[in-house]
Amino acid sequence: MSKVTVGVLALQGAFYEHIQLLKQASQLLTQPQDIPPSQWEFIEVRTPAELDRCDALILPGGESTTISLVAARSNLLEPLRDFVKLHRKPTWGTCAGLILLAESANRTKQGGQELIGGLDVRVNRNHFGRQTESFQAPLKLPFLAGSEPSEPFNGVFIRAPVVEKILPSREGIQVEENQREETVVAPSRQALDQVAREAMENHVEVLAKLPGRAARLAETTGVDIDAEKDSGDIVAVKQGNVFGTSFHPELTDDPRIHLWWLRQVQDAVKKRRDANSLPLR
Ligand code: GLN
Repeated sequence: MSKVTVGVLALQGAFYEHIQLLKQASQLLTQPQDIPPSQWEFIEVRTPAELDRCDALILPGGESTTISLVAARSNLLEPLRDFVKLHRKPTWGTCAGLILLAESANRTKQGGQELIGGLDVRVNRNHFGRQTESFQAPLKLPFLAGSEPSEPFNGVFIRAPVVEKILPSREGIQVEENQREETVVAPSRQALDQVAREAMENHVEVLAKLPGRAARLAETTGVDIDAEKDSGDIVAVKQGNVFGTSFHPELTDDPRIHLWWLRQVQDAVKKRRDANSLPLR
């Protein structure tokens, strides 16, 4: 079997940290159904040719405005949109990366930012305020659990966005979103082939929430507060092959999310390879 190449967009931000955790996580791929560690390669992506080699991609945390400007200057913006939205190859964005993968984002300076898109969500940039309001919080991530309940994950939030709205998955949402003030949208794209079309039909799943203040208070004090009304902020979503987290797993030494994601990648790669090896009709 040929190698699986996973790229990390390396224009700005925490790309080195992602590569280290990917390497660490790949060593844990030891189940019989896993693609073994020696079959994976992890590369930094700075050019369209490097992107072309990738089966899957991570967009790191950093500064989304800078990343999109440098991507445009490096002639990477359109190839990135094709990668995510035409080919629907597995892509994961952390923090600034989540902003870039959103179909719609608010609080951007006019003209200061371009989006790639791929997730039918609207994100609110810098939801928690400025750099000084960065924080860490234990997160329950049920998607990581096998049969046993898993330890909370240390969520690192640095000027983090949240998903403030799940958008309906239909054509034309970008046009509707564009009518809002101070909102930037991604250009729409149509899936390229059958595998990509199937991947596009998926709806957004909420994979994790940061409990709201009332819920946190209820948990720590035991006081029965109506936590229902304060259901918390959405900090992890997945739509088909596209995954986004508000926080930075790459700034921890916990490889669990990277391992989970590599397994998502291997499923997608196997599916595509099977589809390509079918006899043509
Ligand atoms: N708020 C930043 C942005 O707009 C993201 C911060 C981060 O990635 N830590 O890009």
